[in-house]
Amino acid sequence: MEFTPEELQRYNRQLIIPDIGEEGQRKLARAKVFVAGVGGLGSISCYYLAAAGIGHLKIVDMDVVDYSNLNRQIIHWTEDVGVPKTESGARKLTNLNPHCGIEAVQEKITHENCAAMVGDCELIVDAMDNMEGRRALNAASVQLGIPYIYGGVHQLDGLISTFIPGQTPCLECVFPDDGSTTRPKPPGILGPAPGVIACLQVIEAVKWIVGIKGLLTGRLLSFCGYDMTFREFRISRNPDCAVCGQRHSD
Ligand SMILES: [Zn+2]
Repeated sequence: MEFTPEELQRYNRQLIIPDIGEEGQRKLARAKVFVAGVGGLGSISCYYLAAAGIGHLKIVDMDVVDYSNLNRQIIHWTEDVGVPKTESGARKLTNLNPHCGIEAVQEKITHENCAAMVGDCELIVDAMDNMEGRRALNAASVQLGIPYIYGGVHQLDGLISTFIPGQTPCLECVFPDDGSTTRPKPPGILGPAPGVIACLQVIEAVKWIVGIKGLLTGRLLSFCGYDMTFREFRISRNPDCAVCGQRHSD
């Protein structure tokens, strides 16, 4: 695969990073990434993934753009209110980088449909706003052996980790399902908080695709915007995990 002069210019500032180069750029161009949600996190992660030259993005969201989204979901603009987020997002991403193929799916991610939806992608970027959807992503990740980059935000804070099936803990090991079915109220969110977390997720995604070491595996990184600190917590596999534990792996 040869890049056009335009593409070489477009990606120049990352092509000159020794760990990326043209070989890394070709890996990005061949990659197909699943982005679950085109909201606060997804606005940012889709944008940077497309800008970085990911060949195929599958973006999934069931919602339409609402005024209450606009403090943080910066891929959507005032003129998009009432438009499906996948449509609004796909339009901006195609304008940003026509070399990036966008598959937009306007559907709710559930335990029933998740594996089929994710199956043709090689990486899952979590841009969900609820644990139910994340558990569906995690189950599909473990079932299909597809790495899953978790991200979540609350007010001025956020969390991120990279889960690689068979090597690292999964989401369920870290946040076991307590069986509660009540969905908590949407948290307050300051726009840049998902910006911070989604940017870190894309750095992880690019590293994983290109093969740059130092992934956020076995570690949960916590960002606190109140005191402007990052803290890191060691996380390990739970042998009895309901999703990836020994007794469930056969
Ligand atoms: Zn697990």
